[in-house]
Amino acid sequence: MADYHEMWAGLGLDLKTHDMVLEIVGKAYQDIFLSQKNRPKGMSYFDFVVSEIHGLRIKEIMDAKAEGRKVIGTFCVFVPEELVLAVDAVCIGLCAGAELGFEEAEKYLPRNTCSLIKAAFGFKLAKVCPYIETTDLIVGENTCDGKKKAYESYKDIVGNLYVMDLPQMKSTEGRALLKAEYKRFAQKLEEISGKKITVESLKKGIEIANNKRKAINRMAALRSADPTPISGLDALLANQVFFYDDPVRFTGSVNAICDELEARNREGMGVAPKGSPRILLSGCPMAVPNWKVPYVIETSKAVIVGEEMCTGERGTQNLVNTKGNTVDELIDGIVDRYFQIDCAVFTPNPSRLEHIKKMVKEYKADGVIHYGLQFCQPYQMESKIVEKELEKAGVPTLLIETDYSQEDAGQLKTRIEAFVERIKS
Ligand code: SF4
Ligand code: SF4
Repeated sequence: MADYHEMWAGLGLDLKTHDMVLEIVGKAYQDIFLSQKNRPKGMSYFDFVVSEIHGLRIKEIMDAKAEGRKVIGTFCVFVPEELVLAVDAVCIGLCAGAELGFEEAEKYLPRNTCSLIKAAFGFKLAKVCPYIETTDLIVGENTCDGKKKAYESYKDIVGNLYVMDLPQMKSTEGRALLKAEYKRFAQKLEEISGKKITVESLKKGIEIANNKRKAINRMAALRSADPTPISGLDALLANQVFFYDDPVRFTGSVNAICDELEARNREGMGVAPKGSPRILLSGCPMAVPNWKVPYVIETSKAVIVGEEMCTGERGTQNLVNTKGNTVDELIDGIVDRYFQIDCAVFTPNPSRLEHIKKMVKEYKADGVIHYGLQFCQPYQMESKIVEKELEKAGVPTLLIETDYSQEDAGQLKTRIEAFVERIKS
């Protein structure tokens, strides 16, 4: 990687801490990803992306800013990238997956707040995230109570927060609220970018986002083969980079990997022996560099074949209808797609359970591991329903509750190994 210290200093990062973070992440990547056997060659693209995640990509974003383009940071898959692209802005995910700056974060948040929220505060307060510093607007959303209330203090820390209201029920009124909020957001984007959203620009935005989803869903579908052609770790990585990368380049790179995976499937070539226990992961999102649970699973003689998470199929399923003669009609198509996202903040939320069952079937999963972040009420509460229903349907299910620390890695390993044994027997 080139020397980007000047750029980072210009963004106000704490260079000493930031250097340390890059070193730790680089080492973890080496140990977790580069040590895997039989990886698809196309993954070298993602190796490069990760090695430059705070370098070249940030430089690209800074160049885009210099051209007058705006940068929009998001924390949730409910924020429609299509609208951001329609004003030629850059959309980047800001969720963080490491225990950093938590002590500082706890000056604003109760200790019993989930790691995802704490990391959003921690990364800003510890001055280690160049993405946050490049944003012109950060979009928060009213999903769980934790996020909703945390944004009240987050707005003072970041200074450029915009909060989007979201429905909690899949009702007619809920859909109307979502549409009204997307229209308000579109207006905000026009205001800060100085660009008007037109039928043409919105169709282009929809097409770019749809293509990105098609590519990642194509990769997902190829994992139904036995042996599976790509590890769960690598597939998760692609899903994580989905939120940072240039969307058109990302689409091309994922499609190139898919060509390779198709060839592997034809030849019966996989990353684990045929017949290896197949796990479906379900639950809270896993942001970079949160790789703990998948690493434990895939070093316990099992392979992950799908992710029912927002860093996975919950976030990428369904496309936006491109038909429409007005911006309003196109926004209707966007609302229709996003209203199907079955986040646990919705009540009731039966479609999520149906989706998990569908994924078990499609990806021929032998068991489900439900990943719940500690103090995440929506997913923890829903996990009990998921476990009961899946076990009733004969699908072995393991509920895991964890956080971003490494302290429970040994205990997780013991539980996951026992679960894999249960599946095998
Ligand atoms: S889990 Fe819910 S709140 Fe979190 S990113 Fe997904 S949709 Fe948004
Ligand atoms: S993991 Fe749970 S508690 Fe944390 S932000 Fe997401 S929904 Fe909220």
